[in-house]
Amino acid sequence: MTAPLSPPRANAASSALLGDWSPEELRDNGRRVLDLLCAHQARLRSTPVEPDVHPDTVRGAIDSRLPDHPQDFTSVLDDTWHNVLPHLTLWNHPSFHAYVSTSSCGPAVLAETVTAALNVNALLWRAGPAVIAVEDVVLRWLAELAGYPTDADGVLTTAASLSTLYALTAARECALAPYDVRRTGLTGHGIGRLRIYTSDQAHSSIDRAAMTLGIGLDNTIRLNTGPTRRLDPATLDEALRRDRATGHLPVAVIATAGTTPSGAFDPVPELAAVCARHDVWLHVDGAYGALWNAEPRLAGHLPDLSAADSLVVNPQKCLYTPMDASALYCRHPGVLANTFRLVPEILRTDSGQAELMDRSLQLGRSFRALKIWWTLRTFGRTGIAARMAHSRELAARLRDLADATPAWDIVAHSPLPLLCLRYIPPGGGHDDEATDRLNARILSHVNKSGRASLSHAVLHGTYVIRVSIGNIHTTEDDIDALWTTLQDAARHCTAHP
Ligand SMILES: *Cc1c(COP(=O)(O)O)cnc(C)c1O
Repeated sequence: MTAPLSPPRANAASSALLGDWSPEELRDNGRRVLDLLCAHQARLRSTPVEPDVHPDTVRGAIDSRLPDHPQDFTSVLDDTWHNVLPHLTLWNHPSFHAYVSTSSCGPAVLAETVTAALNVNALLWRAGPAVIAVEDVVLRWLAELAGYPTDADGVLTTAASLSTLYALTAARECALAPYDVRRTGLTGHGIGRLRIYTSDQAHSSIDRAAMTLGIGLDNTIRLNTGPTRRLDPATLDEALRRDRATGHLPVAVIATAGTTPSGAFDPVPELAAVCARHDVWLHVDGAYGALWNAEPRLAGHLPDLSAADSLVVNPQKCLYTPMDASALYCRHPGVLANTFRLVPEILRTDSGQAELMDRSLQLGRSFRALKIWWTLRTFGRTGIAARMAHSRELAARLRDLADATPAWDIVAHSPLPLLCLRYIPPGGGHDDEATDRLNARILSHVNKSGRASLSHAVLHGTYVIRVSIGNIHTTEDDIDALWTTLQDAARHCTAHP
């Protein structure tokens, strides 16, 4: 029998390797980091948005052995500023317009530091009462901005993709209530095929949720939207009727408030009426567009979302909040918790409070609410609305420039600050495929120039250059410069076929 291990005794050499920075070191190094960050921010406009770099160069600059011995923090910082920052695509750059233009604002950047320093866990009321209280308030405020019932159950998550997965899990739980699948599992009940329905413009996170939940891609019915790019209630009604008659089991319909390719809004109240008739859950993916309801000039022009059974919104997309920050809501009290609650003995408490760990699959959770709380308080509702309105004015400015130039076609209009443009060379455009290729080259030319970052979409077979606007720093001058960059790229690519 081996003797039990006795605790090792400390010696001078090992104690030099112990402990954290002193408060003085944290303060001094913190100031250096902030100084570097502010200098980076001040230089942003002369820094390329996308690096033009080979993967081997980046890996070569960073790859090294795991250090055996402590390294001076100065060398860590130097390395980061010389080898990492120059090789990043700068999502917080005022000329980043790819995918969805987002930004992280000052208050949220500092809140992230506080969150990391406190390192509290938002799983249970007992684990940090004020963490839960702040999250509750933030969830209520976000619901108010999106026009969703403020007493809905909510939870902050890391991503809209996960929020949608959780919402569809709850929908599946409800659709299969008689079978108690939480306990018995999915198989062996002889139920028909589980089906979900969405539009051909919906986000890929829905397909991934279907893959994960045992619904499958073949049972994810993407209904054709046609030129409106909106899910048509009559088409949905017909699909549900047909599937019910065939013995399939409709689990959920997913409507989109602000589609990623072109910023279209599905008619949620009309879809909700169809869902109610067929007794099917309606989830709204509002990751991109739902919070734009906070812009007063859009109020009344965006569909009312309050009839949705569940909703996801993404502060990380448009509320100047850094990743990760998504919020999931469900209008039916206790349904999220009934789906996910499973309390191990070690986490049993008698707080009498709704526990946030019960509303998703994540157990340990960061104090994600703080950065949203600081942002919403620092800017206020009017400040948020003014910044959103400004982004829409910038989009209108670019739209006017394109409108005044016959070679540029605006392929899709959206209430969101998103433009889908297509360049059709004078006298050209008879060959759609050649025009697609030309636009892809223009996009690549712009991105390689470092002066802007754009992405593309294919709308019912037509290739478009997408310009998403929403960064808190973007100005009129930036948009005018972007227009020049686009025009230069179009001229260059037409002259050098
Ligand atoms: C961005 C986006 C998502 C995915 O968001 P993540 O938070 O990155 O998972 C889902 N749906 C829509 C409509 C989006 O625009």
